Amino acid sequence: MALYYVNKNEQDHGDHEVHEWRCEWLPLEENRIYLGQFDSCGPAVSKAKEYYEQSNGCAHCSSACHTG
Ligand SMILES: [Zn+2]
Repeated sequence: MALYYVNKNEQDHGDHEVHEWRCEWLPLEENRIYLGQFDSCGPAVSKAKEYYEQSNGCAHCSSACHTG
């Protein structure tokens, strides 16, 4: 299990990136929303889409869920 967060700020393509808590690219506390604990990035991204339709896994920590 890992803790997952989504970035409140959009990236270049309008994506809101989903990160594990240990990721070096984890946004600052004021720039992230806590999603919960999940076994993998898949359900974390699904949860993130409740906040931001265009959510995407971080290429670094959640590459299995990174598209585009
Ligand atoms: Zn990440």
